[in-house]
Amino acid sequence: MTDRPTRIALVTGAAQGIGRAIALRLAKDGIHVAVNDISTKLDDLNSLSEEIIAMGPGMKSSVHTADVSKEEQVKAMIEGVVETHGGLDVMVANAGIAICNSFLERPHPPLSRYRFKSRFVIGILIQIFSSLSLSAIATVEEWDRIFSINARGTFLCYKYAGNQMVKQGRGGRIIGASSIYGKSGNSAAGCSAYAGTKFAIRGITQAAAGELGRHCITVNAYAPGFIESPMTVQADKALMEKYNFESGQFMETYRALAPVGYVGKPEDIAALVSYLVSEEAHFVTGQTISINGGVFCD
Ligand code: NAD
Repeated sequence: MTDRPTRIALVTGAAQGIGRAIALRLAKDGIHVAVNDISTKLDDLNSLSEEIIAMGPGMKSSVHTADVSKEEQVKAMIEGVVETHGGLDVMVANAGIAICNSFLERPHPPLSRYRFKSRFVIGILIQIFSSLSLSAIATVEEWDRIFSINARGTFLCYKYAGNQMVKQGRGGRIIGASSIYGKSGNSAAGCSAYAGTKFAIRGITQAAAGELGRHCITVNAYAPGFIESPMTVQADKALMEKYNFESGQFMETYRALAPVGYVGKPEDIAALVSYLVSEEAHFVTGQTISINGGVFCD
């Protein structure tokens, strides 16, 4: 038993997928968990929060809707968490969106041309992701939107959480959501804006780690490959509609590529976050950790 007070975590984009799994895992680890998403996801957030509270006596959770791309909303969200729980020890800036359109007027066909050439298979995945959006070509509006949520949203969460943790003077853990496409740029052909945001998150993570290390605050990010979540299920569905693919073909493509022979689950990312948040991980900082079944090696 330790007399250390229970820590408080905030997880953004927690209504579904990876964020939801992280929130549940941190709660299982005995941390009080505040959960965030956009206001349209309020019902999902409320049921997640109730699930956390029902995990055991003394479990605490709260709901904070906010758009992470808006500075005032992020500031108010952190203030709300501190007001409710008395502090903030763990920030998981997980919220993100995927918009993937090629900037070419005539992008490569999605599968037929490269189907059996393994070195291009990650490119195939990107081409598949490209089918998620209906517009024919990447636009400045898409660029601004994806950067405002993925990159600026992460920066704002790091900024307000970092300042709060410094003020508290008891250290902390900050974690961001990069991607396999934040590690391998040429494999992200046709998806430059999304890849740009995920590379940006690595840069923000490294710079923040440099600034916060002396305050005993570590800053790291996870870089998943294909994880089965609403984001990727939606990609699979879009393929069925657009190219008459069979259900599950998107996931099958990645599964065939992965040395481990399967795609990841949100709980796999949650387990990594659980470690990064632990006391034992005090010497790990500034890292963006690949977790992709071996599809890409750093
Ligand atoms: P998801 O789409 O299932 O969930 C993302 C959540 O973020 C949603 O609930 C959404 O409402 C929320 N969100 C979106 N914009 C927001 C905003 N402005 N403010 C607050 N919340 C917002 O996605 P996921 O698969 O769970 O992915 C989570 C993170 O991991 C994302 O950053 C994603 O880019 C990254 N990632 C996912 C995969 C994958 O294969 N699923 C791979 C690499 C990286």
